Amino acid sequence: MDLVFSEEALQYRSAGHPESPDRVKKAHSYLKDKYEINEPIQASVEDLLLVHDEDFVQRVKEGRFSDPDCPNYEDLFFYATLSAGGAITAQKKGSLSLMRPPGHHAGRDFLGGFCYLNNLAIAVEKSGLRTLIVDFDAHHGNGTEDIYLGREDVTYLSLHRSPGFPGTGQESRKNVINHPVSPMIGDKKYLDLLGKELERLSKKEFEQVALSAGFDGHKDDPLASLGLSTSAFQEIGKYLKKMDLPTFGVLEGGYIGEDLGRNIDAFLKGFNSRY
Ligand SMILES: [Zn+2]
Repeated sequence: MDLVFSEEALQYRSAGHPESPDRVKKAHSYLKDKYEINEPIQASVEDLLLVHDEDFVQRVKEGRFSDPDCPNYEDLFFYATLSAGGAITAQKKGSLSLMRPPGHHAGRDFLGGFCYLNNLAIAVEKSGLRTLIVDFDAHHGNGTEDIYLGREDVTYLSLHRSPGFPGTGQESRKNVINHPVSPMIGDKKYLDLLGKELERLSKKEFEQVALSAGFDGHKDDPLASLGLSTSAFQEIGKYLKKMDLPTFGVLEGGYIGEDLGRNIDAFLKGFNSRY
């Protein structure tokens, strides 16, 4: 697994906002000589409409929204569609996209939590494949659940801290498997739970795995934390590799730049290792 990235992802910012260019800039500096980097394509409006309501896409395009976690940056729509395009490129190449803004809190007709468009879902829908979505961000992907609840061709698995933002994902329903976990769950219990679920799901017939790859479960993360060490991300990578399916991912959270680079590197090392 390699990376998708463009410096365009660093061109917009809001002062003091934790979802900042700096976190990805530092991570990219740490990773750029270690992995091949693919350029993202720009997602089209037609691509967005595979997932989002037309009215909602129009509102994002015209900046007609108000959410303290989702400021209306200048040229936001350009950057959001480039991040969605990064997910599409990642799906085609089996890569991890480091583009921002992230996406798993964006539903069919709502935004939130630094997310404007659901990048991962747009790439999954464009692929048309039966997909297992694994969300290992420390927060629940309420947007992804909103998009996929009840769908037979996509299963959504999320492990997330509770209590915590956005407060959803307290129970499993239909094709959505939610595991709210203690903020201090730590490596062993987290990996046991994830491993058990992946083992169970490996018996179903998926054509690909799509990852909401969040690294804010790291023990030092200022916004979330699940008490995880860097080596836990290497183990997560190994577990996902064992699924033995085409796999791609998008970066969601992870808010300390140096740690983010190290944690992504650990994950990729785990995924790229032989088992
Ligand atoms: Zn998160």
